[in-house]
Amino acid sequence: MATICSAAARRLEGKVALITGGASGIGECTARVLAQHGAKVVIADIQDELGQSAVHSIGPSNSSYVHCDVTNESHIKNAVNQTVSTHGTLDIMFNNAGIVDDFKPRIMDNEKADFERVLSVNLTGVFLGIKHAARVMVPVRSGSIISTASVASRVGAASTHAYCCSKHAVVGLTKSAAAELGQFGIRVNCLSPYAVGTPLATSYLGISKEELEIQSNLNANLKGVTLKAADIANAALYLASDEARYVSGQNLFIDGGFTVVNPIFN
Ligand code: NAD
Repeated sequence: MATICSAAARRLEGKVALITGGASGIGECTARVLAQHGAKVVIADIQDELGQSAVHSIGPSNSSYVHCDVTNESHIKNAVNQTVSTHGTLDIMFNNAGIVDDFKPRIMDNEKADFERVLSVNLTGVFLGIKHAARVMVPVRSGSIISTASVASRVGAASTHAYCCSKHAVVGLTKSAAAELGQFGIRVNCLSPYAVGTPLATSYLGISKEELEIQSNLNANLKGVTLKAADIANAALYLASDEARYVSGQNLFIDGGFTVVNPIFN
């Protein structure tokens, strides 16, 4: 978990963020970090109890919860509208909610409905988030939209076909939205984490958080560093802040060099 910052280091003072999938894992940690940096955060998720407990722990004076299934356009529209009506603006949209395929190693065993279910959350959910954030950001000509992709946006992953497709597509959507929205002062970027010990990753792999951390450390190029949700949250903080004011259309990898090393030459 990231350390609490002094007031002088608060990089998002006065900003308002909406975070989908904010009840757990990377989203919850990012909500906490953005709030520590002065932002008001609205957590949007389908796990209501977990979302409420995140608010309780972050602090109800700078966070709140809204039920929002990202596959449902009226839910996203409502979450954006509620954020603006409560806080007067939306500066940061973090499209982070995601799911992974059920483990089926052979593509021929994957059902169309399973494939579409993953795309519906991981891709359509991001599209709807960008669409409705743009709706309120364009008139004020500013904003930062960030989405969570994955190392699976660059490399293939046998047995997670839908996930892999959805994350590659998030990069395309990020670039096309950045191309359109730059004229309005809106930046659009995505993040690509390697394996982090969250419920999504541990339940998919069927291993503990500790086992996952050991495994990902073996495969990463940077040795002796364990990837934590806070590493992703800090990358989101950078993209959300004015320090990234000239950064748009990018896919930022937080992967310890995992995707750039050819093991044959290493
Ligand atoms: P997580 O399971 O801890 O969190 C995902 C959150 O998304 C949960 O709170 C869940 O309730 C929410 N969610 C799922 N479906 C939703 C829906 N339809 N509407 C709203 N919320 C919904 O997992 P995480 O690892 O923190 O995942 C966050 C993002 O990070 C995902 O997009 C995931 O693909 C991505 N990611 C994770 C890893 C990893 O190793 N953990 C690696 C790369 C990318």
